[in-house]
Amino acid sequence: MKALTLDITREDWETSTGMTFSDVDSPELNESKKPDDANKVIIKPLYTGFCGSDKGIWFRHAFKDMIFDSMESDNQSYRICGHELLGEIVDVGSYSEKNYGYKPGDIVSTESHIFCGRCHQCKIGDAHVCSDHKIIGISTDGCFAELVKLPARELWKTDTNLIRPEVAAIQEPLGNAVHACSRVDLRGKTLAIFGCGTIGLLSILVARAMGAAVIIGVDPNPENLRLAESLGLDLSIQVQPSSKKLNSYDPDFDIVRIIREKCYGEGVDVAMEMAGSNQALNTAISSTRAGGDIILFGLSAGDYTLSNFQEIIMYGKSLHSVVGRRVFQTWYILSNLLKSKGHDLQDKIYEIILNKGEGTVVPFHSFDKKTFEESIQKYPKIIFKYETPYLLLED
Ligand SMILES: [Zn+2]
Ligand SMILES: [Zn+2]
Repeated sequence: MKALTLDITREDWETSTGMTFSDVDSPELNESKKPDDANKVIIKPLYTGFCGSDKGIWFRHAFKDMIFDSMESDNQSYRICGHELLGEIVDVGSYSEKNYGYKPGDIVSTESHIFCGRCHQCKIGDAHVCSDHKIIGISTDGCFAELVKLPARELWKTDTNLIRPEVAAIQEPLGNAVHACSRVDLRGKTLAIFGCGTIGLLSILVARAMGAAVIIGVDPNPENLRLAESLGLDLSIQVQPSSKKLNSYDPDFDIVRIIREKCYGEGVDVAMEMAGSNQALNTAISSTRAGGDIILFGLSAGDYTLSNFQEIIMYGKSLHSVVGRRVFQTWYILSNLLKSKGHDLQDKIYEIILNKGEGTVVPFHSFDKKTFEESIQKYPKIIFKYETPYLLLED
């Protein structure tokens, strides 16, 4: 089958970019050889989303060790990428229907973190921070392929009569935004989002739906801010290069001043750091009022410096980190939000973030590395559309 893979060696990581459209073996269920397959299904992707983390793999910024360590332990020379899925089940293991209620023809999305079910966190309902998890498309083969094999337990049944397929394909990243917006109560609150990339943009919509009263967006990129404004910001602030800073991580006090002025001279109730920048984090902390909350989502490797650390404690500011989605609490909430007629979440995602599909929905089978790379740099989210019906399993 055709698949979009990373098929390089560890040594080639620094000197290469992109992914390869290649021919690989199709996954199959073989319960006599692999008893585990009884609880798995084979899915034919219909639409898949290209994530920020896929972009990190594409440009070799992230996930190097996770990918190569898992390829070595699987004794495999490539990794099929992709974890944001909408697909149709085409084959089920013998327990997948009995234990999980799935049958061929069902349309599903998937939680991308495969949790172990046995560790402390899994046992107490915190599977999103499982000690022994695998990530689809990184530490196990993913959905940029004509078929993907997944555990039935991870799947999320999706009604495409209620949720349009291009949007249903990105329920997983929408879940990141829902998780971030559910970490603390946003009802009637002032909120500043630092970083209006994909998850920042989705968070504007989710925060509004969850009752945030005033939403401020902060980003250096004018195109990100234009999209953020179209989604309904109360105030947008463009980060300007400044000569005043002493250190690269110091807060941007021009931004802090603007945000405090907007919020009774005190600062926002809640700030979200979604940029993965040390300076954005310190600016977010300084822009938050005493007693307020800072949600940490943006990732970057290496050390951070917290400026004026004692301010965090003396002013009673709380830092909360958000990873993945709560399984499956977050999925129920995002599903409710998408199906609700109250706030046009689907329409705004499709019309504004996905630009009505123009330039953002690309055919998987005509993958071209150069044009694809241009697309992922131009739009906040790219969706692959698969030819269908393309391939049916032989008995
Ligand atoms: Zn993702
Ligand atoms: Zn676990």
